[in-house]
Amino acid sequence: MISVNVLDIVPGTSVDGPGLRTAIYMAGCDHACPGCHNPDSWNPQHGRPMTIEQIASVVEENGFPVTLTGGDPLCNPSGALAIAEAVRRLDLGPLWLYTGFTFEQALRNAALRSVIEAVDVVVDGPFVQSRRDLSLTFRGSCNQRIILVSQSLRQGEVVIWREPSCDF
Ligand code: SF4
Repeated sequence: MISVNVLDIVPGTSVDGPGLRTAIYMAGCDHACPGCHNPDSWNPQHGRPMTIEQIASVVEENGFPVTLTGGDPLCNPSGALAIAEAVRRLDLGPLWLYTGFTFEQALRNAALRSVIEAVDVVVDGPFVQSRRDLSLTFRGSCNQRIILVSQSLRQGEVVIWREPSCDF
């Protein structure tokens, strides 16, 4: 049985993707970005161990689409893949993933690629303090991209998600 260290599960957040979402904060990150908002998340032993079934149960109970974040979920690819597959079975809407790896880096690694292929949208790249921009939607620095996964894989180039514009 796979167990994942989870720092927090926050239902109803509006800062980690469009609409209200359940954000799952996985422990562990190797990127050590200067200016990281949460260095406490770097240690994979932090948080509390939860089974995939326990995580899926919280997600199902709240009913929101999910964002996998951390830490960096791709620093625990087997755990992230198990969560992604369990969440997909609940059919709650587009699954978002935040990672400090670039999309291209992740695709070059078989284990990371399998997680990428299991989600709908990836917000990629490390936080770069010198490129920090408070006006950005759902990301902290302008090197980070919000990427539509299946379209990008199909077209062989990164396809960027655009926030739906307001018509009134
Ligand atoms: S990838 Fe995210 S969690 Fe990891 S060090 Fe960078 S900003 Fe912090």
